[in-house]
Amino acid sequence: MTRVTERLQNGDRPLLSLEITPPDRGQSIDELFHNIDSLMPMSPEFINVTYHQAYEDYEEKNGSIVRRPRRKKPGTVGICAAIKNRFAVEPVAHLICGGFDRWETEDALIDLHYLGIRNILALRGDPPPGQSLFRPKKDGYAFAADLVAQIRDMNQGVYVDALDDPVPTSFSIGVAGYPEKHVEAANRETDIRHLKEKVDQGADYVVTQMFFSARLYKDYVARAREAGITVPIIPGIKPITTPRQLERIPRTFFVSLPDALVQSICEARTAKEAFKRGTDSVAELAGELLEAGAPGLHLFTMGKGRGARAVLTRLFGSHR
Ligand code: FAD
Repeated sequence: MTRVTERLQNGDRPLLSLEITPPDRGQSIDELFHNIDSLMPMSPEFINVTYHQAYEDYEEKNGSIVRRPRRKKPGTVGICAAIKNRFAVEPVAHLICGGFDRWETEDALIDLHYLGIRNILALRGDPPPGQSLFRPKKDGYAFAADLVAQIRDMNQGVYVDALDDPVPTSFSIGVAGYPEKHVEAANRETDIRHLKEKVDQGADYVVTQMFFSARLYKDYVARAREAGITVPIIPGIKPITTPRQLERIPRTFFVSLPDALVQSICEARTAKEAFKRGTDSVAELAGELLEAGAPGLHLFTMGKGRGARAVLTRLFGSHR
């Protein structure tokens, strides 16, 4: 059971992780498996599976307002278990604060541990659709640092309620970082301070939000080191494959796109050319990051294999 933590300490080449999202409720998992299959020649070592918070909305039915629980994308724990059985690769389960109290968090961690899953990316989570502010569940956590602390405690055999002779877990803990700062942070300095809190609570490494300029990563790592953060910082990269993403990505993830990249994709005459320009540019960025000493690459694939494959093929050839 490889843990990201040891892999970062002992690997002889840059780590490669892919991030996928579970299929929408009611959809088959076959397309996702097919896309992972197509990326296996690149020897990814970890597959991160995102977590999507359940939420509620209300609708009118027969003159009354009824509550409707919704979960668009279920299945993170199940998909992690399926990946572990099906592919020679370790899953990294994303676990969020949103929608969990600390006992439910503990149950989720116990289930993951039973399944042999040893890698967690600990996140706060975004506010659910229709809400602008994140609200923790009663007895849950407002910040990812508190979730990290709970996982660290379990790794030391400390459960929420005192237990007789509890068995410690052995999770590797990753957290998120934001080279362009998290959207809610007042400024870069406070955001780095909050990153430091996550590391001080026990995070072993950081995976960044996507960004599109190597300068942003280098600057972020320098500021983190200055703040006393010594753990590895893995850059997150996202292949751009369509002109539509030029508008959607900044709006969804609060990141900026370099003018030259936007212009190059806008000037493409066909969808194929736009795809090539977008993926070539991200492959070039990935090359620069590795040259700058990044410990690995984390590719946001959103479950689609084609863009990730194009970036990795350009970078490493047909097999890594
Ligand atoms: P935190 O570290 O808790 O930070 C949230 C905000 O609070 C920041 O602005 C921070 O500066 C501030 N803050 C932190 N501590 C304090 C404090 N003590 N006092 C005041 N302010 C504080 N979302 C999902 O829902 N599911 C996923 O699977 C998922 N995967 C992701 C994977 C990666 C690699 C990344 C980068 C993001 C992912 N996200 C996911 C999105 C993430 O959940 C959101 O960006 C969320 O808004 C913040 O999560 P966080 O863990 O960074 O939160």
